[in-house]
Amino acid sequence: MTVLVLGGAGYIGSHAVDRLVEKGYDVAVVDNLVTGHRAAVNKKARFYEGDVRDQDFLNGVFDKEDIEGVIHFAAFSVVPESMKKPLKYFDNNTAGMVSLLEVMNKHNVKRIVFSSTAATYGEPKQIPIKETDPQIPTNPYGESKLMMEKIMRWSDEAYGIKFIALRYFNVAGAKEDGSIGEDHHPETHLVPIILQVAAGERKELAIFGSDYPTKDGTNVRDYVHVVDLADAHILALEYLKAGHDSDAFNLGSSTGFSNKEMLEAARKVTGKEIPATMAPRRAGDPSTLIAASDKARKVLNWQPRFDNVEDIIRTAWNWKQTHPQGYNDRTEEK
Ligand code: NAD
Ligand code: UDP
Repeated sequence: MTVLVLGGAGYIGSHAVDRLVEKGYDVAVVDNLVTGHRAAVNKKARFYEGDVRDQDFLNGVFDKEDIEGVIHFAAFSVVPESMKKPLKYFDNNTAGMVSLLEVMNKHNVKRIVFSSTAATYGEPKQIPIKETDPQIPTNPYGESKLMMEKIMRWSDEAYGIKFIALRYFNVAGAKEDGSIGEDHHPETHLVPIILQVAAGERKELAIFGSDYPTKDGTNVRDYVHVVDLADAHILALEYLKAGHDSDAFNLGSSTGFSNKEMLEAARKVTGKEIPATMAPRRAGDPSTLIAASDKARKVLNWQPRFDNVEDIIRTAWNWKQTHPQGYNDRTEEK
């Protein structure tokens, strides 16, 4: 039987495909390559280029493959863009989920592991954030993902399609051998941007906001290594295969690092000066986001291997140094 990975050519999806293959699963990938990279997909996985919203295409894939479960990464995820183009997010993300669940139901595929996000919580009421805390997104991206969680819940009620929603906090790093990594265009995430400065591709890092109520005035985030995150998806799929009910889990380290601390850690890892300036706050940034992630550890038996940010940054730096142009398959920014 086959695991179908939607969005498997993207940053996190390609690491999940790689881990699935390493663990002996038979894997098929669907991706329209809108932000993903064909070269990121492990060669042992069968690749279908197409859009999740294209039901004729998707039905064709489900006809060909004997699918035991789906892992769904395919989505847009840039918060500021979602503020300007909300419908783009509801169309690709939310309508994409409706399309996928219709095809799954038609083909009697009853398990889905889903990339959700800390952005579904919005401004936290308490730290660390628990899975049972209120979900009140502050941007269309988070709203589109919360809607996807709700659509899965009702599809479970009606059709018995069981789901695990994995709410990621801040994902960073790369496979340790440096063969796959993060390559977004444009890049918006803190760690790869810091490393672009370290590599001399950007002049300086702009730190967004220095007057937050945190230890040093900059935002605090909870970082998780991409391969540890990938492993959580496999555990979640096995959990559903064992007959457990639908559920949601935070994935983080339960430790917070400020943006200044991340910069210092990167300076240490790279040995580079990494010039930085303080800039105004970025709209929509919560002050502190830290996950309570003991539920995933207890229930899924998730045991992340990376427990400090320097090690996480080191893997990203290894990828950056061995692939200065990323996958080198983009001629212009999207
Ligand atoms: P990514 O953009 O690298 O990967 C998304 C992949 O999905 C790409 O390969 C893209 O081509 C594909 N895709 C998008 N829309 C599609 C469609 N309609 N049909 C087929 N393929 C489509 O993003 P990522 O950083 O790997 O994130 C993966 C998932 O994790 C996203 O759903 C995102 O919301 C979620 N997430 C990411 C982070 C993070 O820190 N990167 C944090 C929380 C949640
Ligand atoms: N950030 C920053 N400068 C940048 C990019 C990000 O100061 O060039 C900050 C951002 O404001 C946030 C943190 O880094 O406080 C993490 O941002 P990222 O976009 O990586 O992830 P998010 O927390 O938004 O999911």
